[in-house]
Amino acid sequence: MIIDKILLTENEINSICTSLGEKITSDYQGSDLVLVGLLKGCNPFISDLAKKIDLPLEIEYMVASSYKGNTFSSGNVEIRLDLSKSIENRDVLIVEDIVDTGKTLDVVKKILINRNPKSLKIVTLLDKVEGRLIPCECDYVGRKIEKAFVVGYGLDYNDKYRNLPYVAIVKI
Ligand code: 5GP
Repeated sequence: MIIDKILLTENEINSICTSLGEKITSDYQGSDLVLVGLLKGCNPFISDLAKKIDLPLEIEYMVASSYKGNTFSSGNVEIRLDLSKSIENRDVLIVEDIVDTGKTLDVVKKILINRNPKSLKIVTLLDKVEGRLIPCECDYVGRKIEKAFVVGYGLDYNDKYRNLPYVAIVKI
């Protein structure tokens, strides 16, 4: 694997988290906000974003997996870890690292809608808009990107490189 180009530096990621955090803080005033992070990729993003949201929120996690060590979507989305508590009548914000085909979020959204949240929105660090196979609108987007494979800041290739402090486009 060769790093082709740095897409987001640590400073750029920090600015994105700050501005998303400010917007979310203002939009969710008085809400019972629950962040639902999709592991494993959301890990650094949800931690940094949550620190920039000035509200008494809760953090929950799900594991929804569609990639099996490849650089393309297999299309099979499995839920391997579910929430630890009810989201009924609560304001739920799904926190995703990257949206590509939209298949993962389509499955997760359907599952969560069935649990009757008061509201359900999506924040993603990266949005590969051209990759969509299923319509999926994100309410808060850190950065729209081209259709390339990226690693770092939570995003993996064969379960490695999640620890890079930046996001890079790679050649496999
Ligand atoms: P979707 O279901 O929208 O096709 O894909 C969403 C999931 O695919 C993301 O949560 C992420 O795990 C993975 N994914 C999509 N694009 C990339 C990418 O460029 N790099 C990495 N490492 N994972 C990706």
